[in-house]
This record gives sequence, C-alpha cells and structure tokens, in this order.
Amino acid sequence: MKRRISLLGSTGSIGRQSLEVIAACDMTVAALAANRDAARLEEQCRRFAPSLAVMMDPAAAKDLSLRLSDTSVRVASGMEGLLEAASLEEADTVLTAVVGMVGLRPTLAALQAGKRVALANKETLVCAGELVMDMADRCGGEVVPVDSEHSALFQCLQGCRNRSEVKRLILTASGGPFWGRDRESIYHASREQALNHPNWSMGAKITVDSATLMNKGLEFIEAMRLYRMPAEKISIVIHRESIVHSLVEYCDNAVLAQLGAPDMRLPIQYALTWPERTQAAAGPLDLLSCPPLTFREPDYESFPCLSLALAAARKGGTATAALNGANEAAVGLFLEGRIPFGQIAERVAWALNREEHVSNPNLEQILAADAAARAAALEYTPCN
Ligand code: MG
Repeated sequence: MKRRISLLGSTGSIGRQSLEVIAACDMTVAALAANRDAARLEEQCRRFAPSLAVMMDPAAAKDLSLRLSDTSVRVASGMEGLLEAASLEEADTVLTAVVGMVGLRPTLAALQAGKRVALANKETLVCAGELVMDMADRCGGEVVPVDSEHSALFQCLQGCRNRSEVKRLILTASGGPFWGRDRESIYHASREQALNHPNWSMGAKITVDSATLMNKGLEFIEAMRLYRMPAEKISIVIHRESIVHSLVEYCDNAVLAQLGAPDMRLPIQYALTWPERTQAAAGPLDLLSCPPLTFREPDYESFPCLSLALAAARKGGTATAALNGANEAAVGLFLEGRIPFGQIAERVAWALNREEHVSNPNLEQILAADAAARAAALEYTPCN
C-alpha cells in the first residue's frame, strides 16, 4: 500500500529522515507542518507538493505564504493548522515527529479520524497514554511506534498471538555521553558535552534526555502504554553499542531481539510500511564488523532522572504528565545555558513533590498537571 502522509514536525531530525524514507518508498505527502523554519519548509513543499503546509509560529506562517505564493500549497498556522493537518481527509497516515506535549492534541485528532499514527512523539504517550490508546480502540485508528526501542519491541511481538505469553519487555539504553561517570562529575557538564551523543544523531531535547537517561524513563512509560504492560514486566539494560534495539522475553524463556545499525530510517520505514516490509532506505548491519555486544545494569545513583521516571511510571495518573512537563521546562533552561546539567533532575524532583495527584485524569486534568509542573520546575531555587 502506498501511503499518503501528513508529517508533523517535518523540519526536525526525525522529520527530515522521514522525508528521505517517504521519497525512497515512493509514498506521497498530504501535509507538512513545522514550528518556525519557513525556509526549510518551503524547500520541502516544493519537493513533496503537499496540499497543506502549517507553521506553528504565526509570523513564520506569513513568511511561508509569501514564499509559496506561486504554488497551490495552502498555508495555515498554529494549533488549529496542526489539527487540520492531523485530520486531513486525504491522508491515511499521520507521522508525528514534533517534540513535546504539543503533539498530544493532533495525535488524538488523527486517531479520532481513524488514521494510522506513526508516533515519534513519545511525550504524547507519556502524558496521556491511556487516552490515546483508548481513542485508537474506539475510533479504529492505530498507533505504530517510530521510536527505535518500541519499534524493536513491536517487531519482536509480531506473531505473538497471546500477550499473556510475554514475560518481559527489555528496553536497551545506550547510556548516553555520560555513562560511567558519577553524579558529581557531571553536575556542571556543558550543553556541548550533553549534546555529544555517541551513537545517535537526534534533536537537542531528546539528546539531553539521553544524557540524563530521562529518555529511557520516558520510553519505559511509553512501552507500558503502547503494549499495556505493568511496570513489573518491563526492564532496562544498558547496551552501549546500540545494535540490539530492544528484546521480548516470552514465558518459555525464549528471548527475541531486533538488531540493526543505529539508523532511525529503519523504524520510521517500518511504521509506514507495516505489516509489510519493503526495500530499505537505511543501510545493512554488518555483523562481522560489530563491536562485542555488552549489557549492564543501569546506574540509578548517577542518573536520578531515571529513578524519578520509574517512580512516576509506578504512580501513574497525572504523575507522568507532571514528570514530562517538569522535564521539558528544565531541559529548556539547560539548553538556554541558565542551569547546570545536574539541576535538571533536581527541578523535576521538586515539581513531582508538589504534584496534586489525580489517578484517572481526563485531558483537562492532564494539561493542568503539565502546566503546574512546568511552573514548579521554573520556580525552583536551590537551597545552598
Ligand atoms: Mg529511543
């Protein structure tokens, strides 16, 4: 099936790699949406000829309108535009590669319209996983993961006829640039050091999340929601080489793993072509030139964000939205050079301690928990 895709977040790292896959697989683009890079979105529109282009930023949308005035591409802006792109009639698939909580409402809109959502926006499942999966069930939409670990689990679960046969999901983690260091020695790590990921080339926010290991905590919650698994049935191992992307252990102790070169184009492609496989946009894995594959216990002491995420995962309800909101705010401050690396975890912990917990939240309560946690993370003052 040749899919027709609305791509949200097209100018970011995942968005650009998605367009490479779409071109290689000869699929078409119905809509493109991005935050504020009008020049790059113009270039993408000229190449992929969508019917709709959206800029979140209103000034950038005006700029894009002028740039595209000689074409038939319609330009829209803001959340309204993003929601329109997500529910566009002519699109059968919505690939959401936007960063952060902003992806939630478009994901719900796409599922409500019965579309496949190829989900690269993990914050959506972390904050409102139950609402998202329920919406998919009710409206005939489907969520297919793009995140490499969840794609690996998804691949290892193909052919599993009974989920009760699954004993454990095992997420692998590269450990990021600071693996092997202790908490004190990375407390004042710079933005540049945090952005220097050993294996993956990704956007700034997720690269910082990989350095704190918050990324793995968010992925833990994402796996719970996607596969409806309790926290006790998910574990994390550090696998520095990023060759084994995750594993599923079955009740007979058989363990299935998915291996591949660390290249996001592979999971992006599978999310679009599933249940079929097609010629690859990504390169092959050469087993004979792989380094030895190693597996280690995570270091919860040096990477407190991971413990905070697992605690929020077990608590459930609005705790995961609070975790995510506080983390987005704290990472934003770190990327602006306003706080040291080690203070990200302190701010998240501070916000979680102040959370007004709701066990079975609706969308408004989730958005309120997110906003309150952001505010708490911003107001934190270190006591020394
Ligand atoms: Mg990942």
